[in-house]
Formats: sequence, C-alpha cells, structure tokens
Amino acid sequence: MSLTVLMNAGPWLSVPPPGYGGIENVVATLVPELRKLGVRVVLASVETSTLPVDERIWVFPDGQFHALQRPYNQVCGVSQAHLDGVVRALRARDDIDLVHDHVEAVGLATMAAMGPDGPPVLHTLHWDLAKHPELYGNLDGGVRVRVNGVSASQLARAPRALREHSVGHVHLSTPLAVDADRRPRVEKGDHTVILGRINPGKGQDLGARLARQVGFPLVLAGPVGPYHRPADLAAAGDEARQNPDVRFFYDHVAPYVDGDLVRWVGTVAGRERDDLLAGARAALFPLRWEEPGGTAVVEALSLGTPVVAVARGCLPELIEPGRTGLLTTDEEELGDLVLAAGLLDPDECRRTAAARFTPAVMAERYVGLYEQVRRLAPRPLLP
Ligand code: UDP
Repeated sequence: MSLTVLMNAGPWLSVPPPGYGGIENVVATLVPELRKLGVRVVLASVETSTLPVDERIWVFPDGQFHALQRPYNQVCGVSQAHLDGVVRALRARDDIDLVHDHVEAVGLATMAAMGPDGPPVLHTLHWDLAKHPELYGNLDGGVRVRVNGVSASQLARAPRALREHSVGHVHLSTPLAVDADRRPRVEKGDHTVILGRINPGKGQDLGARLARQVGFPLVLAGPVGPYHRPADLAAAGDEARQNPDVRFFYDHVAPYVDGDLVRWVGTVAGRERDDLLAGARAALFPLRWEEPGGTAVVEALSLGTPVVAVARGCLPELIEPGRTGLLTTDEEELGDLVLAAGLLDPDECRRTAAARFTPAVMAERYVGLYEQVRRLAPRPLLP
C-alpha cells in the first residue's frame, strides 16, 4: 500500500514514553504494525522520540510533560507551538495522504484551520468527552476531519457533533498481547496492583481503603502529578500541593499507605512494570470516571492477570465477567471480588488478549478507517 500518514503524537512525552504515557504508548504500538502493512509514517512528536519511522517532525527537543502542570493557557501555548510546527510542515509538502491526530481538541481545531485543501484528518479521541463538550466547540466547517473513539462507550458519551463525525471505535492494544502460549516470566504473587496515574477518576483512594479494610496487599503504581518517585514527591515539599493530583494523593490516598499492606511505588516502567502486573493476583480498577480506553486493562489481560473493576466506561467491552475478570457497580463489593479473582484462569486472560487486542488487529482496523476517511467528501464538522 502506498499511503503516507502524518502521525501527530503531540509535544508531551517522547515516543515510546519513558514510563507513563497513554497516547504515546498507543502511537508506539500502532506505528510498527502500520509500517509492516506498507504505510509510510511521518511522526510529529519531540526530538527525543526513538520510535523508528520514515520521517520525523519536531518543535521541542524533549517532552513538555511538565508543562501540563502549569496554568491552562500555558498548556495550550505549548500545544499550539507544536501544532503550528506541524501545520507549517504540512503546508510545505503535498505527499501526506492523511493526518492521524492524537492531540486533544486544540489539535483538531488546528487541523480544521487547514481548511478543505488540507489532507483528510482522522482524530482519535482519547479522553472521556461527556464532561467537556466545550473542548470541541470552536471548529471551522468545511474540513475533512473525522474522529474515532477508543471504545463504543466513549463514543456514546461524546458530544453529538463528534458522534456525527465518527467512523467507529478501535480498542487499544499493547505489544504484550501477542502470544497466548508464552510462559509467564514470574510466578503469581499475593499482591493486587492498581496501575495508572494517581487521580480521583482512577480511584486509588477507594482501592487503598478497601485493601486496608478487607486486608489484601495492594501496590499503587503510577505518577502523582509530575512526580514519578516517592523521593521526588517528598523533596518537592509543600509547593507540590498546587497540583490537584498531589493534593488528592496527600488528602485521600496517603492516609491508607502504610508502606506494608498498601504501598505507593511511583512510576514503574519496562520489565519492572510487566513483572509487577504479571505477578499480581488481580489488576484493580476502582474507577470513578468513565474509563475511555483502558490501556492498562488490556496490558493486565495480556500478562495473564484478571481484572477487577467498577463496571464503568469501556470496562464491560473489554472484560468478560467470570472469564477474564469480575465487574461490579457496587464499589464496596470490590474487595471481595479481589479475593475471588484468584479463581480465574490467567491463560484465559492471555488467550483473550492475544485474540482481540493485538497490535496487528489495531493496525488493520486503522488502515480500514484511513481508507474510509479518505473516501469521505468534505463536510462541516459542526452542523
Ligand atoms: N503506565 C506505566 N507506568 C506507570 C503507570 C502507567 O507504564 O507507573 C502506563 C500504563 O502501563 C499504560 C499507560 O501508562 O500503558 C496508561 O494508559 P491508560 O489508558 O491505562 O490510562 P490513562 O491514559 O487514562 O492515563
């Protein structure tokens, strides 16, 4: 296939990401598979990205993740500078068949500003948009922009203008979801893990409270705001509390962290992350938001770890209750489900992931969407 795609991963983290990094993980998983299918990929990200691609565009030498902690207008400023660079590059060439954009809202608006002469755009929605219809409210008409979700439930909750321009959803994937028969490198341990940003929506406070009440060992892995290691957070002092996730951690999670039954280990990456997940009795998602895509859910299954979760967002699409996990609408029941998760079969989790969530499955689906978007006539994004 001769198709050249400009993949816009944004200015926040390098691709692949050093540890935490939802969008960057998606791009790092998708691009190698697209290239196997003959797609030429021009990556727009930051200079420190190491993902092999055909060409690269960057404005910032390294990831601007720290800027996300600054006031909103400064965040937008960084995003806009990155996007201006992408648009400059697009205007200077005519070989880009399609832009696959992953930069929220601002990205879509900037692509829209290219007008009907710009290349068609497929914008992947990564967020739960029900609460933020205003993010997509400032778009020009007449552009060839379509959107896709990362789950059916995310799309169902998206503002109508987006739904009307959607071409479907593609579940997230992970390179871990390839070989159902491989032997796990680590034995199952006794711990349960919550892997993800420490954030009220991810519900680490609930998980930690239940661990203490019910008495199961719990490892919390993930960054607290911009702080990846407990020592860095401790060294940051009171100023760190300006960050809402830091406040959430100190006020609602830390009281349950005793360093023994409940531990916060900071961001985990690479082999350490995989072993922590693979060795867990369950991966717990005590969600308080409508999880839009759930990379960490798919990663857990791929490593043979059953998922225990509040049945919100995409979880019912990803988990088959009684086979690959246990879901509930009653938060208080989660603790009992963690204990029951030991009865589920790790091989069944791996088999499901290796059939449904492989990078190859994701790439094939995206190539189908690229073709669909290229065939569509220009149409205003907002009615
Ligand atoms: N992650 C990681 N180390 C951590 C915490 C998270 O590598 O300590 C990764 C995790 O494995 C997943 C991604 O960050 O690939 C988070 O994506 P997800 O869709 O689960 O959550 P969100 O994008 O909402 O943060």
